[in-house]
Amino acid sequence: MESVFAPWRIEWVEREEQNPDADCVFCAFRDAETDRENRVVARSDHAFVLLNNYPYSPGHVMVIPHTHTGEYGALDDETLLDHARLKQRAFDALERGLSPDGFNAGLNLGGKAAGGSIDDHLHTHVVPRWEGDTNFMPVVGDTQVIVEAVDDSYDRIHDAFAEQDGTSVVGADAAVRVDAPPKGL
Ligand SMILES: [Zn+2]
Repeated sequence: MESVFAPWRIEWVEREEQNPDADCVFCAFRDAETDRENRVVARSDHAFVLLNNYPYSPGHVMVIPHTHTGEYGALDDETLLDHARLKQRAFDALERGLSPDGFNAGLNLGGKAAGGSIDDHLHTHVVPRWEGDTNFMPVVGDTQVIVEAVDDSYDRIHDAFAEQDGTSVVGADAAVRVDAPPKGL
């Protein structure tokens, strides 16, 4: 079976994460302090890395700028650079933690037309891929197994970020802190 990136399949995944108590779940996670519970695994000055609760594949994360906007052009230079550097770190952490064969990474811009459901706070999906893999969800199916898999991925990716130069661990239940300004890996 040929593996292709199908970002539209992520639509229902994101919808599950809508929090009725918050106008924007990404803004709520940005401002919250319960990182492990929320599955925020790393934070930089202007962005953070969130594990998808309903992953397309193990280690599926989203790299999310702090700025609440759906317009890529609205990100200022500082945020663009910080978001890009955090993506570099996310690829590195996923390689260290999960040893995938490759990645798909991309943005869904333009709401329903692009298949995204949180269209007013842009975010980059980073999806590790393995040779011969198929969509994780139908393969696994069982909700408890998926929860355990996401917990396991969280620990592996958290440890991997912590191994990087220029990061610090500020607490067992806190996201790994990426020092600013970003340093080389
Ligand atoms: Zn937001």
